[in-house]
Amino acid sequence: MCIFCKIVKKEVPASVVYEDSDIIAFKDVHPIAPVHILLIPKKHIESVDDLRDEDVSLAGKLVVAAGKIARDFDISPKGYKLLFRVGEWGGQEVPHLHLHLIGGAKLYEAIHPEEMSKEAR
Ligand code: AMP
Ligand code: ZN
Repeated sequence: MCIFCKIVKKEVPASVVYEDSDIIAFKDVHPIAPVHILLIPKKHIESVDDLRDEDVSLAGKLVVAAGKIARDFDISPKGYKLLFRVGEWGGQEVPHLHLHLIGGAKLYEAIHPEEMSKEAR
């Protein structure tokens, strides 16, 4: 069973900030910003690449809950970032779909400098 499924089953502790019948949200153990929360479906889905038509409502719930949590944490006025990493090049490390809610500070983006030389597409 994957680490996030264990969090769903409460076999691994997590700092839960939101939970309903379909999803759960908890603080990232290695935050990269003052607010860094992960929202996951309780059902094990590996990544966005595995989402199908029947998952539309579940995926929507993750986004709607992220907005709600952002308001609860008072980071909405300044803004924040929502991030799904997908697979190796996307930097996904945990193979259970998760939406990063990152905020509380001004955020920057970067890719590896060597990759910049690649043709834009
Ligand atoms: P990703 O690189 O998109 O797969 O992100 C995985 C995230 O999960 C990382 O930011 C980790 O810090 C976080 N993480 C891994 N294990 C745990 C855990 N047991 N509780 C909370 N966050 C975790
Ligand atoms: Zn899982």
